[in-house]
Amino acid sequence: MFRNRRSVLIAPAVCLACGLLLFVGQESSPPAAARVLEAEGQLQWYRGNLHTHSLWSDGDDYLEMIAKWYKQKDYDFLCFTDHNVLANRERWTDVLKNKGGQKAYDKLKASMPKDWVEERTVDGRLEVRLKRFDEVDKQFAEPGKFLLIQGEEVTDRFRNLPVHINMTNVTELIPPLHGDSVYEVMQNNVSRAVAQRERTKEPLLVHLNHPNFGYGVTAEDLMRVRGENFFEVYNGHPGVRNSGDAKHASTERIWDIILTRRLAELQMPMMYGLATDDGHNYHKIPSRGSEPGRGWVMVLSDELSPTALIGAMERGRFYASSGVSLSKVVSTPAGLHVDVKAAEGVTYKITFIGTRKGYDPKSKPVLDKNGKPMNATQIYSDDIGQVFKTVEGPTGAYEFSGDELYVRALVTSSKKHPNPSEVGEVERAWVQPTVGPGVPKTESE
Ligand SMILES: [Zn+2]
Ligand SMILES: [Zn+2]
Repeated sequence: MFRNRRSVLIAPAVCLACGLLLFVGQESSPPAAARVLEAEGQLQWYRGNLHTHSLWSDGDDYLEMIAKWYKQKDYDFLCFTDHNVLANRERWTDVLKNKGGQKAYDKLKASMPKDWVEERTVDGRLEVRLKRFDEVDKQFAEPGKFLLIQGEEVTDRFRNLPVHINMTNVTELIPPLHGDSVYEVMQNNVSRAVAQRERTKEPLLVHLNHPNFGYGVTAEDLMRVRGENFFEVYNGHPGVRNSGDAKHASTERIWDIILTRRLAELQMPMMYGLATDDGHNYHKIPSRGSEPGRGWVMVLSDELSPTALIGAMERGRFYASSGVSLSKVVSTPAGLHVDVKAAEGVTYKITFIGTRKGYDPKSKPVLDKNGKPMNATQIYSDDIGQVFKTVEGPTGAYEFSGDELYVRALVTSSKKHPNPSEVGEVERAWVQPTVGPGVPKTESE
């Protein structure tokens, strides 16, 4: 299903700060081609993490303690995404054998109400009942203030290549469906999610996790997956190799290759980038494990609900962050404008990145030491993901010259990340891509 483009009268106005021509709609909502992201009236920025593990799989803390942590740290929403399981049935955990051990148990007992923790002894061993999602939701959710969302990390693989896909607001468990290639594994699981969404009418957001974890997913495989329009450009787990290595493209490079080929060759929708925690370790922060608080999304929405948040994200009304906050992002047929919410004593660099029409589409495989092609994202020319412009300062704009397929922006700050997942990491924000003039934007409903 493709959305019809609305044709409305638009009045051009000039942004004084940057000289960029902005198109301001006469109607209450701007035309489809313009996207103005700024808190105003009902529209607010909501901060959330969409990738979280608990004792329901391989995290080391109880669901309720994790909900409490995020709520206290000023997050607005949190999605639990344990591996191949939903927290919707009775389950007991051995207090000392589970990943949290005595420490997690002691903290749970100390911070929850007296009658909250249910215990039993089996064969002389102390067990605690893991709370279900609905119980934790009832305890911590507050309308308009804090939202909990049920999710799942569908944890699949092809041979030894991991393929992990998050399902935000899933209503029924999706078991890993496998397939005869990495591409097929992804497509099978995504298609099941799309079918569930159509059947239940409940919005469900699918995003591909950490493509470089185990170097499982290449740009060429991911770009072809129908219904898969989000991926993690930043994942806070220290083992996921966001930056790639000598033989493997970084997640940013993967993003540019996918955007270029989807828009120019495949006529598929844009891919949007997320930052997430993928938290597993909650007892020593900061540390060198996979702790919470490293990466998140900021979604501009008129309501704090799964429907509103997912709807906003599907319209590109969000950005990803590992510390940098933005106050305004404007995408119009004329270009892309970014305003950083500058922090005291911090400097910013805004890099506008994209690909022009007429780029060199050739690619070649990465070879291993025996000269054999590897399972790795191919090598392309520097035409793909070029730096169009760099601005030093908290405000920047890029004006289209007419031959761009898309432009996106990366904001890099001078501030070191307080709990980096990679050595030397600084705080960043990733602005979603916007299509160039005359480039058909394929939107999925
Ligand atoms: Zn994973
Ligand atoms: Zn995970």
